[in-house]
Amino acid sequence: MASSKHPSFVWWRGERVAWDDATVHVTDLGWSTVGAVFEGIRGYWDDRSEQLYVFRLDEHLERLVSSCRLVRLPLRYSAAELREATLELIRANDSREDTYIRPMVYLADTSGKRGAQIEQNAEVLINTNTMPSHLQTGMAQRVCVSSWTRISDNVMPPRAKNFSNYRNGQLATMEARLDGYDSAIMLNDRRQVSELPGACLMMVHRGKLITPDPQQSILESITRDALIRLAREELGIEVVERAIDRTELYVADEIFSCGTAAEITPIVDVDHYQVGDGVKGPITTRLEQVFHDVLRGREQRYAHWRTPVHAAVAVGV
Ligand SMILES: *Cc1c(COP(=O)(O)O)cnc(C)c1O
Repeated sequence: MASSKHPSFVWWRGERVAWDDATVHVTDLGWSTVGAVFEGIRGYWDDRSEQLYVFRLDEHLERLVSSCRLVRLPLRYSAAELREATLELIRANDSREDTYIRPMVYLADTSGKRGAQIEQNAEVLINTNTMPSHLQTGMAQRVCVSSWTRISDNVMPPRAKNFSNYRNGQLATMEARLDGYDSAIMLNDRRQVSELPGACLMMVHRGKLITPDPQQSILESITRDALIRLAREELGIEVVERAIDRTELYVADEIFSCGTAAEITPIVDVDHYQVGDGVKGPITTRLEQVFHDVLRGREQRYAHWRTPVHAAVAVGV
């Protein structure tokens, strides 16, 4: 990511604002983001059609609304308004490359207020940045099973895309990196496989795709949902959602992580057990191909998962 380059605008407090004017006072740092929620959305640029396709925008905005509800944030924009704002922002920034879109909702005026922050003003920021896809680039990860436990439903709600939740995954990632791994697989409080920091997990065993079900303290990933459907409908593969034991990872044929940021990232080693042949497996490869074609608009089906940004007729709201 080019850190010196930034887009011209963000969408903040209900309007488009020039990048340099979107500032807050330093003393606002602190409690304001403890209660904040967000979404991470990707737009994929396709050279052939000169089009940026936002992947499953409506599902992401629905989840933002539900995250707000879960943590009692009063959101004063509808999903339709946020959809419109997002598309307008991307057009204003003239994004002609793979783009990451991050709407966040946070409480304004929280300085010094640590306790219950209900019934306050919630503000929305939407910002974008360049984020090239790493699909089909050969990226693969070596991971460990973390000594940190994934948060559970009665601790911090795993199904909200809550900034605070990320401390849990950060600790696991830092430990893994210091120990020489790329990332970590976290077990839940029942000691079964949950997910990686910021990405869900899928494994292949005897031709079946197996992934932890939503009761395993996972964030209900939109990418995970898309891949389950593509595996079933396009590849004809049986998909099972169930609890996974740690040792199943050690005998899996293929493992990969999935999520908006992770896309599909092959995992070739877990705790020094080589996964399959130690390279991206055949089912992962096929799924990655279909997913790639859907994301960039080269597969005509699943068009309802893509919102073209630059088409004049794209916005039906
Ligand atoms: C965002 C996120 C994911 C991936 O979800 P997507 O909807 O596919 O982007 C997985 N785990 C956590 C903790 C997340 O925050």
